[in-house]
Amino acid sequence: MSAQTVVIIGAGEAGGQAAISLRQNGFAGRVIVVGDEAYIPYERPPLSKAFLAGEADLERMYMRGPDFYPQNHIELRLRTTVSGIDRAAKNVTLSNGEALAYDKLVVATGGRVRKLTCPGATLPGVYYLRSIDDVLEYRDKLVAGANLAIIGGGYIGLEVAAVAIKRGCHVSVIEALPRVLNRVVAPEMSDFYTDVHRQAGVNILTSTAVTAIEGHSKLERVLCNNGRAIEADLAIVGIGILPNVEIAKSAGLICDNGVVVNEFALTADPDVYAIGDCSNHPNGLLGGRLRLESVPNALGQGKAAALHILGKPEPYSEVPWFWSDQYDLKLQMTGLSEPGDTVVIRGSVPERKFSACYLRGGVFVACNAVNMAKDFLQSKKLIASKIKPDPMKLADATIALKDLAA
Ligand SMILES: Cc1cc2nc3c(=O)[nH]c(=O)nc-3n(C[C@H](O)[C@H](O)[C@H](O)COP(=O)(O)OP(=O)(O)OC[C@H]3O[C@@H](n4cnc5c(N)ncnc54)[C@H](O)[C@@H]3O)c2cc1C
Repeated sequence: MSAQTVVIIGAGEAGGQAAISLRQNGFAGRVIVVGDEAYIPYERPPLSKAFLAGEADLERMYMRGPDFYPQNHIELRLRTTVSGIDRAAKNVTLSNGEALAYDKLVVATGGRVRKLTCPGATLPGVYYLRSIDDVLEYRDKLVAGANLAIIGGGYIGLEVAAVAIKRGCHVSVIEALPRVLNRVVAPEMSDFYTDVHRQAGVNILTSTAVTAIEGHSKLERVLCNNGRAIEADLAIVGIGILPNVEIAKSAGLICDNGVVVNEFALTADPDVYAIGDCSNHPNGLLGGRLRLESVPNALGQGKAAALHILGKPEPYSEVPWFWSDQYDLKLQMTGLSEPGDTVVIRGSVPERKFSACYLRGGVFVACNAVNMAKDFLQSKKLIASKIKPDPMKLADATIALKDLAA
């Protein structure tokens, strides 16, 4: 391996994993990770779950303890932004004006929250959820009796709702589309999660778009297009993210819903990689290109980039998977469903132990398993091998998914 200095932009899970994998696989050169947050690489999933609930401390969020980095000669430049990439000179410019030379560069800049743009959107009391600092701003305000408006009924919004209702808040979830989790699951799953939240006391409002935030010096109410006004002490907005591609784009790298890379996380520049939420990669198993926002993808691409830098290329190709924890429900998802897929339910919805299996042209393409860990594990293989199960057998939860492959 000839590279001497690898610079990684972004100290999130993808960037952290790339650094860890370089060392684990014997990279002997310099590894420098530049991150604009104040924290060593940490896991974001607990932000809307245990960390928000106050049940996990900072140490539990870290990918590796603080000692790991000096012990492994990984140089962390935290609270530092990379403002530009010069591919001809092979260096990056830092916010303090310093230039850092690289032999190989890994862009792991992740995503930033999509902001509300309606009138009043910048009033104090309107919050977002992407980082530890975000959560620390409002976690203590989620107290019994507080009125919380959650804008956006995606995973993050629903996870926040589950935490906040447990803490005694009055919670409303405002979703513009006709159902929660609209983008990612079948109507059957949306209905199930809507019922679960309503039973817990969450006020779920669908087909309801926010038109304005009102208040004198701070948020007091959220106004909606159907004339409703939701009184709120605070609002947490979860309406998606935008990939951070600007510095890559300015450096002339091809970007199309993420920095375009191949199966080794390599861009068209043989010395520049892009990984995690900011990258758009081909998926041989599913066919086509994807930009995924998930931990397994961040870790998988981080490893792939490191191995390629080390001259031990292993293509990153995995059935996408993701999870969400709400109440006592562990939702684990494999594959990617689309509107129009046939949905087969197996297990028991009332007992909160079931899976929604998705067939496209008869082929098993995705599974959403609720408290059904075995289905989750076994579905990955089935999706990868593109089997066409008998729908009657698929609906029978006494038959293990793996036995449908025969
Ligand atoms: C609340 C929440 C809950 C989630 N729950 C789940 C879950 O249950 N399961 C799951 O699979 N996924 C979950 N995700 C998604 C998952 O956390 C992300 O897919 C993953 O963190 C992506 O990692 P990343 O390193 O690509 O990007 P990020 O985590 O966004 O890290 C990128 C880092 O780079 C920094 N950066 C950006 N530009 C620059 C620059 N120019 N200079 C220096 N630094 C820069 C950013 O500030 C950030 O720190 C969740 C995400 C959130 C926010």
